[in-house]
Amino acid sequence: MSNRKVPIVDLARQHAPVREEIDAAIAEVIDSGHFVLGPVVQAFEEELAAACQSQHAIGVSSGTDALLLALMAQGVGPGDEVITTAFSFFATAGVIARLGATPVFADIEDHSFNLDPALALDRVTAKSAAILPVNLYGRLATLPETELPIIEDAAQSIGTGRVQGKAACYSFFPTKNVGALGDAGAIVTGDDEFADRARLMRTHGGRPKYFHKVVGGNFRIDAMQA
Ligand SMILES: *Cc1c(COP(=O)(O)O)cnc(C)c1O
Repeated sequence: MSNRKVPIVDLARQHAPVREEIDAAIAEVIDSGHFVLGPVVQAFEEELAAACQSQHAIGVSSGTDALLLALMAQGVGPGDEVITTAFSFFATAGVIARLGATPVFADIEDHSFNLDPALALDRVTAKSAAILPVNLYGRLATLPETELPIIEDAAQSIGTGRVQGKAACYSFFPTKNVGALGDAGAIVTGDDEFADRARLMRTHGGRPKYFHKVVGGNFRIDAMQA
């Protein structure tokens, strides 16, 4: 018995109690023929927004894309600086660099491992476009008092049910707090204008279809994951 291996994550075991529900939901999506966005996604977004006590949820293709799209909706680009923590998954700083902006690192707090709000404020310059704290290990970061927009990397903190900053970015990677059957993520925000911009950019900035006002990307979530 002492040699028995206990896996850190056992997805099959997690799925077992809800397997019938999952199978039925998958069948529903297949029968509907509506695989990308659509009514199932909309229902999911409404439920998620309510669960986070917020106005809008925008389902996207991954947690990484949630962060990327949120920064794009915020208008972050070349020449901008985004203040964040190095003590996180690679994606946090990676999305800043992908937009041609510069990740500016501030140290973490000893007790929470999250971005130290005072040290983050020390890094503010005229080029600062946003602050990107990470709610590591399910623990909400203490946000700095600032006029700058705060985008939370909430990939590990969906259970807190609360958006503290302008927007929170969630991941539904299978091993996360709430895992999908593949890659998925979401942005949750109480800001109407920001939500609208993120929705627009989620589908290549096209509205109506084939009329493109801004350069976005394909950041859509699949109905199966929703
Ligand atoms: C998992 C994770 C991400 C990336 O999410 P994906 O869905 O894997 O793209 C970003 N930040 C943190 C802190 C994460 O834990």
